[in-house]
Amino acid sequence: MGKTCRTCGKTELTSSVETYLYAESGLPNVTLVGIEIRRCSTCGDYEIVLPRVTDLHRAIAHAVITKRARLSGAEVRYLRKYLGWSGVDFAKHIGAEPSTVLNWETDKDPIGMASDRLLRLMVVHGSPVENYPLEELTKIENERRPPLAVRLSPNANGWMQVPQAA
Ligand SMILES: [Zn+2]
Repeated sequence: MGKTCRTCGKTELTSSVETYLYAESGLPNVTLVGIEIRRCSTCGDYEIVLPRVTDLHRAIAHAVITKRARLSGAEVRYLRKYLGWSGVDFAKHIGAEPSTVLNWETDKDPIGMASDRLLRLMVVHGSPVENYPLEELTKIENERRPPLAVRLSPNANGWMQVPQAA
């Protein structure tokens, strides 16, 4: 027996493996590949089955900090939440006013280059990344670019980045 829909209670959910735009991350372009989705054919509700959510969020954070361009507001917010901080906590850690952090996260002002680097280092320090030499920080360009596209798929060891769709 499958699981009955929690919303309408009428139909058994049907499982399928799909590619899923992970908008719940708060990032505009994170795609999860090979994800089980359970859908209700009656009301259209669905649930996503995400294995190893902690690993997933770490994999996304590590993908974001390898971005060569300055972090966007959504990326700053994602990394700040990943580190487990409120906006006020983060402002204290990074040495900025809370209103400044809010302006970064809402794209009113771009994050300062020094703060951008510090935030990336906090993520590296908070959860060690292999193959992230500090010289990478010197390659971050002072430009704003479209959102970073990340595609991740679960495997036996956690979550792996997979190539972009053609
Ligand atoms: Zn339903």
